[in-house]
Amino acid sequence: MDAASSDRGGMDLTWSAEEDEFRAEAAGWLATNLAEWRAGHDGDIPSGDTAEGFAIHLDWERRLFADRWAAVSWPAEHGGREASLWEWLIFEEEYYRAGAPPRVTQNGIFLLAPSIFEFGNAEQQAHILGRMAGADDLWCQGWSEPNAGSDLASLTSKAQKVDGGWLLNGQKTWTTRGAFCTHLFGLFRTDPESARHKGLTYLLVPLDLAGVTVRGFGRLDGDDGFAEVFFEDAFLPDDALPGGVVLGEVGSGWGVAMATTGSERGLTLRSPGRFLAAAARLIELWQQAGVGGADGAADPALRDRVIDAWMRAEAYQLFTLKTVTALAEGGAMGAESSINKVWWSELDVALHETALALLGPEAEVDDAWTRAWQFSLSGPIYAGTNEIQRNIAAERVLGLPRK
Ligand SMILES: Cc1cc2nc3c(=O)[nH]c(=O)nc-3n(C[C@H](O)[C@H](O)[C@H](O)COP(=O)(O)OP(=O)(O)OC[C@H]3O[C@@H](n4cnc5c(N)ncnc54)[C@H](O)[C@@H]3O)c2cc1C
Repeated sequence: MDAASSDRGGMDLTWSAEEDEFRAEAAGWLATNLAEWRAGHDGDIPSGDTAEGFAIHLDWERRLFADRWAAVSWPAEHGGREASLWEWLIFEEEYYRAGAPPRVTQNGIFLLAPSIFEFGNAEQQAHILGRMAGADDLWCQGWSEPNAGSDLASLTSKAQKVDGGWLLNGQKTWTTRGAFCTHLFGLFRTDPESARHKGLTYLLVPLDLAGVTVRGFGRLDGDDGFAEVFFEDAFLPDDALPGGVVLGEVGSGWGVAMATTGSERGLTLRSPGRFLAAAARLIELWQQAGVGGADGAADPALRDRVIDAWMRAEAYQLFTLKTVTALAEGGAMGAESSINKVWWSELDVALHETALALLGPEAEVDDAWTRAWQFSLSGPIYAGTNEIQRNIAAERVLGLPRK
């Protein structure tokens, strides 16, 4: 892929021979290893959002890491293969095309890690990244609180500086896979006199500290993938992690957190490969006789929805290629990541609602599409609700007045 090689200075959308080779290597590895992993578990693998399924998915994550596929774009010293962002996109495409499972380490690898690269000191990077990619340490995101969701700056969890560390008090909630994780990255108010975005610090917290209670609870789809995390005078030593437990500067946590949300809404959490694969499965469903239009007799309105969902997945792919071009040239995504998030989350709902409409009453017995549809409904909520993303896009991308 070349950013500016056509006559009009646009993109050449053909992959290079090296990129094709990378794709073939990834596809071959995935095919062999997925088959082995599934066979090793009798092919019956529970959701990664259950305790049993999470453990099985860790086997998969470790297999990825052993052959340096867990974080392909990272430096070799942290277990990556120094792939370009283009190659990372290729890997993601092949990953989802092969039907590989959701990454249970994603909140570490795709959310925290970019901020560790940007704000972490050398010791933190050396200690945290490899252990994260190898699924030795499992990271969850501790931002939301019972009274601080969309308005995150109203959070009240506190970290008080004491001799040799921090005393933590407060409660986090909606912590994805928190009950199965070993570490939490969280925002805490460290300046008691401060308000809103000021006086917050981004802390890296092992969850086995005395005074920390993690209580898992179920989601609407039945999986127990959420947790509440309680801090009751929990002492977090400064040296609990090599390089320290503060990411960035004390009191500057908001800026670090916004960089993490940039990854969550922007490039890394939801790559186009995931939606291209779902769109391909939707087309297959359409083509099945008796479901879609193999005989040309099916409902044209449904056919249009299938085509529309597929086109939106393709559009997301093209938009991402444009984003990667800008990043490769030293640019940043900034507030545009909010538009990106609205796009992928609404696309995911449309893809799955269309599948359910195609299946009709059969959807009741099609566990894969139904469960994926249930999860798609949470997309407009997590990573910051779409209402909030529209506010951000209106104010910071379009420059509209706040009121
Ligand atoms: C699947 C899933 C996984 C999650 N994982 C995590 C996690 O790992 N860690 C974590 O910290 N959190 C996590 N969350 C929590 C998520 O970040 C919050 O749910 C989200 O930020 C919204 O906060 P809230 O639920 O408190 O809703 P509220 O903030 O109470 O919002 C309720 C409604 O009001 C709307 N609203 C609020 N303010 C405004 C406004 N100013 N303008 C317009 N509309 C507004 C919202 O859009 C929403 O529709 C997860 C959520 C889900 C669904």
